[in-house]
Amino acid sequence: MHGIQCSLPLPFPPLLRQKYVALFDYSARTEEDLSFNTGDTLEILDKSPGEWWIAKALSGVSVSKQGYIPANYVAPVESIDAEPWYFPDTKRLDAEKMLVAEGNNQGAFLIRNSETQKGDLALSVLDKGKVKHYKLQKLENGHIYVSKTKPFPTIKELVEYYTTQANGLCVRLGEPCQKTYGLSYNTVDAWEIKRTSIQLQKKLGAGQFGEVYEGLWNGTTYVAVKTLKPGSMDPTDFLREAQIMKKLRHSKLIQLYAVCTTEEPIYIITELMKNGSLLEYLQSHKGATVLGVDCPRKWGVASGMAYLELQNYIHRDLAARNVLVGENNICKVADFGLNVYEAKEGTKFPVKWTAPEGIHENRFTIKSDVWSFGILLYEIMTFGQMPYPGEIHISLRKIIFLVRSVLMMSCPPHCPTVLHNIMMDCWKENEQIRPTFETLQWQLEERAELKSLVPKTS
Ligand code: AMP
Repeated sequence: MHGIQCSLPLPFPPLLRQKYVALFDYSARTEEDLSFNTGDTLEILDKSPGEWWIAKALSGVSVSKQGYIPANYVAPVESIDAEPWYFPDTKRLDAEKMLVAEGNNQGAFLIRNSETQKGDLALSVLDKGKVKHYKLQKLENGHIYVSKTKPFPTIKELVEYYTTQANGLCVRLGEPCQKTYGLSYNTVDAWEIKRTSIQLQKKLGAGQFGEVYEGLWNGTTYVAVKTLKPGSMDPTDFLREAQIMKKLRHSKLIQLYAVCTTEEPIYIITELMKNGSLLEYLQSHKGATVLGVDCPRKWGVASGMAYLELQNYIHRDLAARNVLVGENNICKVADFGLNVYEAKEGTKFPVKWTAPEGIHENRFTIKSDVWSFGILLYEIMTFGQMPYPGEIHISLRKIIFLVRSVLMMSCPPHCPTVLHNIMMDCWKENEQIRPTFETLQWQLEERAELKSLVPKTS
């Protein structure tokens, strides 16, 4: 299932084996996997297969058993990764939303990476319904402090101290922020759920694989339910892909919550995005306002894609129709992981979004996603206009001709030149010289800060 043989080699001598703690519950899906619960300790016997490590459970339901475990479900016992208050990739605004959400009380807190200063940490605390943020600063000797008069050798000690007294903080630290990912902590790994726990409420749209509904899960949580047309996908194939999708967690990616795969139609349950697809959203806002250079940055697609890039994951169908808009116009990338089937089923390629090497050689890399990102920028800056306007059935040959003769799509009206230049970089025929998403992310941030932009008028 994971593409590895379970011969359970033991390359680490016992003294070098590190102890890890489980961050989430995990239910074994094959005989080779190990089930464990949050807080169980595990000894890692072999890290060589990459995403799947071989471990021996030292406590919990699988005590003394050995098997494969998903590497990102555990953290070294002494690292702060294992701490319930450590939310490394959480942005300041998301931290605020998470802390004011139901389930947190006065003093609820989390520690996250600082958005402004790479390598620094920040403490976010809930006080009387408002969230306050403190920088965790470092002395030359590595000790950490909120107030310079009270430094601590480790972050853990700092947290422990402020849970006993406020001493300068707005409030004494209470319980760590609830780790919900939008749902209860305990349901994060209840992967296969009962179909009866979902009530389909209203149809939201229809896509390649079937219809999409707004649903109510357990009578309490609104979710999006994607139903897969019978026969459109083999459940085993889908579950393999779902294993990967489940591990991808980022504030700019739609979170997969659960699936119903024991009978057809298969349900894929994800977080609900109230404002539908970015394409529909753009088209309905046409003319309402001129989009500025900071729009693509604000919508954060590049940051979600930079995360996928880091995880060595390829989207394959990045387009405005596959970006969803939620409350407060927050955008998230959707439909990653499903698109491998599109190609397999022989369905039509979205030619206008696909890089030449994708159409020509069926070869997809993160750099072909970068090409599609360029087209997505074009869609954003034209309020959802069809790319290559006037070309209803554009052929591959025509796209390659346009690219080779540097006749790529011209700068849309009112689109700042800097953004058009970024699009053109994404459409370089040689994929090697297309930017990475990491570069695109900082370029968009940097460009958005430039005040003196001269928009092109045609
Ligand atoms: P898709 O099958 O992904 O192409 O989705 C078809 C349509 O359903 C989209 O254009 C959206 O309008 C809607 N939709 C899909 N996923 C969601 C979601 N998570 N939240 C809200 N609407 C969605």
